[in-house]
This record gives sequence, C-alpha cells and structure tokens, in this order.
Amino acid sequence: MENSSGIFLKMKATGKYHCNYFWNHVAIDSRGAIRPCCRYLDQVPAGQLNDGLAPVFSNAKFQQLRSNSMDGLQIPGCQTCYDADAAELPSLRTYANSKTTMPPHGNITGHSGDIEDIHLSIGNLCNLKCTMCSPKYSHLWEADYKKLGWSTKSFTNPHKEKIDFPALFTSLPKLKRLRIVGGEPLLSLHHDNLLTSLQEKYKHSIALDYFTNLTKMPCENTLKAWQNIGNVALNLSIDAHGALNDYIRYPSKWKTIASNLEGFIALAKRHSFIKIQVHTTVSILNIVHLANLRHHLASIFRKHRLPLIHKEVLIHQPTFLSVKHMPQRLKRMVILNESNPAIVQFAKQHLDAEPQWEPLVSYLESIDKLRTLKSFEVLPHLFNSSDIGTQEK
Ligand code: SF4
Repeated sequence: MENSSGIFLKMKATGKYHCNYFWNHVAIDSRGAIRPCCRYLDQVPAGQLNDGLAPVFSNAKFQQLRSNSMDGLQIPGCQTCYDADAAELPSLRTYANSKTTMPPHGNITGHSGDIEDIHLSIGNLCNLKCTMCSPKYSHLWEADYKKLGWSTKSFTNPHKEKIDFPALFTSLPKLKRLRIVGGEPLLSLHHDNLLTSLQEKYKHSIALDYFTNLTKMPCENTLKAWQNIGNVALNLSIDAHGALNDYIRYPSKWKTIASNLEGFIALAKRHSFIKIQVHTTVSILNIVHLANLRHHLASIFRKHRLPLIHKEVLIHQPTFLSVKHMPQRLKRMVILNESNPAIVQFAKQHLDAEPQWEPLVSYLESIDKLRTLKSFEVLPHLFNSSDIGTQEK
C-alpha cells in the first residue's frame, strides 16, 4: 500500500521540469565521473566512482538536484531536455518519466538500491577518432589534441583504469538496463570482466544496450555471455556511407563498416537474444546526406529481410557542428527537404541562431592538415555558397 509521502511525491512529480532520472539513473563517464545522465551538461560531476556509487548518489549535490526537481525549479544542466520539450520533441526527460518509476519512499536522500538504469563508459580505448568526438571518448584523439596544442589534462589514459564491477553491482539490486559505451566497448580491456560480473549477478534479468562503431565483430566468448544474459541491443553507429563515412568516422573505411554491418545483420538473424538498430548522430557534416543514407540502409536491410530500425539523434557538442548553428541557408534547405519531423522542427526553432562558421572552418582546417584530408571535397554542401564565407582550397 502506498504511504502518504508516496502520494505527496507523485503529486509533486508532475512538474514541468521534473525528472525521474534523479532517483533511478546515473551516467558514469570514461574517467569515472558520475552525473545524473549522459545529457546532463554540468562540467563538474556529482562525484567519482572511486568514492563509491552509493555515497555519491546520496550526496548533497544529488539531493539538491532532487529537491529542485520536486520544487519545479529549472536545473541548468538539464537545458538540452528543456529545449527539446519546448520544441515538443522527444527529450530524455520525457523518456525517463514514461519508462522509469519514482521510488515510493518519497524523499530526496537517494538510495543506489533504487537505480534501474545506468549509462556506463568502460573507458575511452578506441580505434577511431570521429570528427565530432574528443579524448573523453577516444584515446586516439589525445595525440591529435596535443599536436593541435589543445588541453588534454583531464583525459590521460582512463581506459587503463579498472572498474571494480562486482563491487559496483553489489549496490544495484534493481538494475534492469545497462547502456554500455566506450571508446569502443568491444575493444575494451574491461569488457570480459564486465560480462563475467553481469552473468553472475543478473543472468536473464537485465537488458544490455551497446553503442558500437562496427569496426570489430564480437568474439565467441562475448556471444556466449550475451546468450547467458539473454537480452542484448546493439546500436550500430553509422553517420554516413562511402567517402563521407571515411571523413566523419576517421580512420574507418566504409568497405569494412559495410562488411561488418552484413555480419551484425547475420548475427541478429541467427540469435534471437541480439537486436540491432542503426544509430546516426546528425550534425552539420551529414545533415544533407541523411536521405541518401536512409535509402542505402533500407536497401541493405530489405535485401536481408530484416526490418530497419534507425534512430537519428542531433548532436549539440561541439556547438559549431550542431544543426542549431548552421548557416541559415542550410537550415532553410533542411526545413524544405528533410523528412524527419524532429529535425525539421529543430531547424525551425533555431532558424535565427547565430551561425558558428569561423570556429567550424578553423576546426576542419586543423584536422584536415593533421590527417591530410580535404573537407571541401567531402562536404561541398558547406563550401559551395557565397553567403557562408570562403574557404581556401
Ligand atoms: S531532465 Fe534531462 S538532462 Fe536532466 S537529468 Fe533528466 S534526462 Fe538528464
């Protein structure tokens, strides 16, 4: 039976800015920093995994966030969700409130035993250095940052640090879903340990959600562990095909990605415990090529008689790659031609936002020089216009 504090909690939990995730979710990044979720923008985390998840989850910072959420106050770190809500687009906040439940005890203390869902980076070891990425998610970016004279202070070698998975999962009896990101999780030095701990603790009671870059197929041991766990979703990161893939997801080659995509499709057809979906991050780099990509992916999945599930997510960082800060000409083009209503709505909402052309060009020039690439050849939609400045060729 529900107690009066539970009823009180539910009444307060209907507020415009309320989010269940403050009570039942955390994101742990590649440096062990803990935040309420992966979209939460505060540079200063709520705490570190080394200090123990349970004490961090009930520390003063988390309690303040819960208190503000209950009081209907706006929380600056949640701006990405508020922007999506204001544009009537799906936000992580609405997802959290529809898919997860508030604990019935009705207090702001926070108990790690109530956590149902974790977004976990198991390190930044990666074999790619995608254009929109950083050393936080790919250790290969670290060397490039150094060559470019950008700061890497806080990123050094986090992929080598071990996570004590048995200790972590001891305090999480209600964990139902684990989103596993890297780096590239299938390359991680810690992946086998993670799977061993998960099989011991959550056999057939947890859903795993991976984000993988399609450069590596899972080995037999991994498949066996996934079978024991019983519910694995693989988000296959594809932002473009052909030469644009090779530019954006450098130094991958589309030929390899296409061949591994066929491999993942075969796995999903062979094993009912594996589900796949394509995950595309949408930025100024690929926005005008999305229709081509959708068409290309649809023909591949049709050939294999497998339904294509394709999720397209707008990126917000770095800001100069965001659709929000594209030149107005491109936003108008998107509003006229794009078929994804969420992207059209976003372009309309930010039609008058300031373009960030100079930082974009400077960024592309820097990485072109470093990698001997030619952005103006693969991104003609950016450079073939007189209203957005000129690019030296
Ligand atoms: S409102 Fe959005 S950003 Fe804030 S904690 Fe919830 S899901 Fe994360």
